[in-house]
Amino acid sequence: MSAELQFFLAAKSAGIFRHLDADRVAQINQEVGGNDIALVMCGDCRHSRDKLSHLFKTFPGQQVHVMAFNGGGIIADALAPCNKRGFNFAQFAQEQILQSLNVKGHIAQLFLEAHFPCAVAGQSDMTIMDQVRSLISVKCHLKELIGDRKPVVKIGLLYHWFNDNASIEGARRMYYFCDREMEEFLSQYRDLLVAV
Ligand SMILES: [Zn+2]
Repeated sequence: MSAELQFFLAAKSAGIFRHLDADRVAQINQEVGGNDIALVMCGDCRHSRDKLSHLFKTFPGQQVHVMAFNGGGIIADALAPCNKRGFNFAQFAQEQILQSLNVKGHIAQLFLEAHFPCAVAGQSDMTIMDQVRSLISVKCHLKELIGDRKPVVKIGLLYHWFNDNASIEGARRMYYFCDREMEEFLSQYRDLLVAV
């Protein structure tokens, strides 16, 4: 079993990667008084149909403002290895996200996505763990940049998993994860690997 698959399955069985709850998405929108959703995703042609069809099913009543960048949310991380191969896209991506929130005043939730297998992440030897760390870091940075905008923007983190042999349940699916839970899981997982 590859290290990537091992980590994915461990995080999934621990309930860290979990299915996105459409009711919860609708409830958050109602609480913050907005209806639109912004999505930063990798536009990879091999996986975009699967990702978008899943999300449109999950968000049937909302408009989805899509920003498709190569690599998805990880390119908004200035320190990500994928931004150290020449041009650093982080500021561009961050400005695009902020612009979307400014011009689309009803966006109540912003989702940052990364996925496996991703050519941009792979080119820079970024593992799933590196990708999720990058998304957490981008979320934290964006919260500072967004400040006290009204309506409040909730930032959610997504991970799309695609397995070619599709023999594992849920092999093609968009998952949600919580930054705090993932950080805790990552530190435990690292200890587990050191112990092995
Ligand atoms: Zn990709």
